[in-house]
Amino acid sequence: MPFSEILGQGLALKALHHAQQSGRLPHAWLFTGPPHVGKSKTAKALAQWLNCECGNGEDACGQCPTCWQIAEHNYPDCMVLEPDGKNIRIAQVHQALRWLQLRADRAKVRVLTVDGAQHFNRASANAFLKTLEEPPPRTLIVLIAEAPAQLLETLVSRCQLMRFRPLADEQVRTILAQNPKLSEAQVETVLPWALGSVPAGLIDELETLESVQQQTVHWLTTHSAPEALEEILCEMGNWGGAKSEAWRLMLDFLERWFRDVSWLQHGLPETQLLCPEFRDSLDEGVQRFSKRWVLELPERLTRLRESIELNANKPLALETLWLHLLKTA
Ligand SMILES: [Zn+2]
Repeated sequence: MPFSEILGQGLALKALHHAQQSGRLPHAWLFTGPPHVGKSKTAKALAQWLNCECGNGEDACGQCPTCWQIAEHNYPDCMVLEPDGKNIRIAQVHQALRWLQLRADRAKVRVLTVDGAQHFNRASANAFLKTLEEPPPRTLIVLIAEAPAQLLETLVSRCQLMRFRPLADEQVRTILAQNPKLSEAQVETVLPWALGSVPAGLIDELETLESVQQQTVHWLTTHSAPEALEEILCEMGNWGGAKSEAWRLMLDFLERWFRDVSWLQHGLPETQLLCPEFRDSLDEGVQRFSKRWVLELPERLTRLRESIELNANKPLALETLWLHLLKTA
């Protein structure tokens, strides 16, 4: 994955090139930005660029044995440290530091990437500080996190900061279109959910996503016959089950659908609807739910998510939500 394959991060890549060409490549970077926009890929591309056997100076070739091994996490002079459970543990840091003390096998620059640097705890961060300040020669450290504020200031201040931006829709579409598993229509289904990034899990969830959306719209627009209610409550048992992600997709979809209903109720431009493919159902929503009720719904959904985070009985919480949604209709 050389730089040429990373989309939408032109500014960040330009800054990397500039630092390298002016001989001011820092010994530690901190890459920040939303998830799934290319931070880890850029760290990998950077390691390839610095070590490629036949690159042109501008970029890695992506084809030589070194580029391949780095791409496959198989290169002895690159290491990626990720949290083990909730934290990066101090034992992991010690192991990485011992690795850094070894002589480079064949790398020009060895690269230690900490992916999920917000998961350092105080002890493991402190164990890492000294090396971060003064790494062994020909070593580059890359920390990756969503925002600098998630890290101890002492870590942040020892790194050069590089911000990554959310991807534009066009870039997300290009990335999705490269996936052979997705049809053109499916790319359009996934696109509004991507929100400026391309989470791998989203594509695996596509089938569930499609059926959750259709079912939810059906329930929202069918006048609540008692059988429908029974069906919904039964389904919430399944969607809220331990292994299902359907509940989360449903809440996301409800948020978007009701945002659009509100948008139309207030006469805002239709070109900016989040789910235009459900245009007909939105019209029904406009008729069925009052403006005020719709405006209050997001807060209710936020509270519901919070209570689920705090281990509320998920199926029961979802049932209560549907009783609320249908009572109003
Ligand atoms: Zn190469």
